[in-house]
Amino acid sequence: MREYYNLRILGHVVSVTPIYNRLHGDNTHGESDDSDGTIRIRGDLEPSIYQATLLHEVVHLIDDFLGLGLTEAQVTGISQGLFATIRDNGNFLTVITKEK
Ligand SMILES: [Zn+2]
Repeated sequence: MREYYNLRILGHVVSVTPIYNRLHGDNTHGESDDSDGTIRIRGDLEPSIYQATLLHEVVHLIDDFLGLGLTEAQVTGISQGLFATIRDNGNFLTVITKEK
């Protein structure tokens, strides 16, 4: 069972909630809402799908918070590219977050 937790995105506190009943669309894995700072993700997804969906919803909120106006295809491409880069480079997050 996945747990509720908070993320901080561009100064906004965002709650991430696993959902075990249906989201708005039958094929929807996740959804986000910048007006109340929420991400809801199906809690029964395989780990890699859950992780990719979380990153996808984070990119949606970055888009919303900054008013970028990205298309769904752009959000998908950016999130998939970031997910693959993080997945394929085990030390990537350490490299970009470590201090000098
Ligand atoms: Zn989307």
